[in-house]
Amino acid sequence: MSDHPTAPQTTVPIAIEGFTPAEGELPSLVGELPDNLRRMLEESRLDSRPFRARQIFRWIQARSVRDFGLMTDLSADLRQALATNFRIPALKPAGEASSHETRTRKFVLVGTDGARIESVRITTPRRVTLCLSSQVGCGFGCGFCRTAQMGYVRQLTAAEIVDQVHWIRDQAPLPERYNLVFMGMGEPLANYDQVMQAIDLLSHKEGLAIGPRRITVSTVGLAPEIERMGRERPKLRLAVSLTATTDELRNELVAVNRRYPRPRLMQAIKNHVELSGRRVTFEYVLRKGVNDSQADARRLAQFANQVPSKINLIPYNPTGLETFTRLEPEGMRRFAEFLYPRTYAVTIRQSQGKDIFAACGQLAQPAPEKTKTRARRRPGTPKLAPRPRTRPPAKAQER
Ligand code: SAH
Repeated sequence: MSDHPTAPQTTVPIAIEGFTPAEGELPSLVGELPDNLRRMLEESRLDSRPFRARQIFRWIQARSVRDFGLMTDLSADLRQALATNFRIPALKPAGEASSHETRTRKFVLVGTDGARIESVRITTPRRVTLCLSSQVGCGFGCGFCRTAQMGYVRQLTAAEIVDQVHWIRDQAPLPERYNLVFMGMGEPLANYDQVMQAIDLLSHKEGLAIGPRRITVSTVGLAPEIERMGRERPKLRLAVSLTATTDELRNELVAVNRRYPRPRLMQAIKNHVELSGRRVTFEYVLRKGVNDSQADARRLAQFANQVPSKINLIPYNPTGLETFTRLEPEGMRRFAEFLYPRTYAVTIRQSQGKDIFAACGQLAQPAPEKTKTRARRRPGTPKLAPRPRTRPPAKAQER
């Protein structure tokens, strides 16, 4: 996987749109594949034999070691020299909250430029899922999502994406198998190269070796990138946030639909399914009186049935800028029952962590007072710092 043509092969810090590392900041090694690691060691005139680079890679990626001093199979001199030239983590932890309602934990992490992102660990009796962020903020402006209200700040680097997993792993052991979903802050397919480089690192056999089939990339519907992912990474799972069953409503809720309307989106999805041989997941956030009618369900079934697919119904989670109403569980159940068996498969997402604003569409939400008192803080972790309140764009308020 490391020889993927789009993976940046550079030994200088990768130029990321809008990202300027703090002055004097040493380069992080957490975003580097073994070959590049070797080149970086060579440039710093350190021991650059390939097995050395692989040893360091394994410490960082397989064991989540954040400190060169702990790399006990390296000489003391090399450990010292590494610490002088490089650092490991790309992010710093800035807070954590645990949900009392569920076993969900939200982690707040800060980049060297002060940018804040959030990652979520969702633990259910059946599986553990890590929900990762791919951008700081988001530029797609979906009116029902809190991250969108922040606007776009910058891309995350591959190092910052990978580091989210290592920090979560640091806090509590992960089971042998777990899933990754790119459903946190940002649009992963708008940060294609860095997200794919991060996936290469996370799935590397000498690292965490997370199988690509356990990784889901969720997109707002960027048709060309869906096709590209099908061509280049057919094993990854694709989820598409459909949200509306007519172009008229989708244009309003998910503005990118104007660029890639539903027929174009479906063409890309068909193309992806053909290349990957895998079914696609359609995410559908249900809002009372907006997209929950029987006609909506019928159109949703018609759309989804064009490809092998699963429909994932998501209850609308409050964003603090309420313009929509959540559909009550009974309504969700009726909608789901209409869809199944008319479609291949339907699931209702049990949104986790609403009490700590960690559920879908809630990341970047300033923590409300209630949350602060209910959230449990692990000893030794910093408190969630207060976040500046941003005013929602006028458009979102009108809805
Ligand atoms: N940009 C990507 C991934 C991030 S959003 C995408 O659009 O898919 C992850 C999921 O959360 C999407 O399916 C989105 O529709 C959903 N979501 C956004 N806001 C929500 C809200 N307020 N309540 C419930 N789900 C929401």
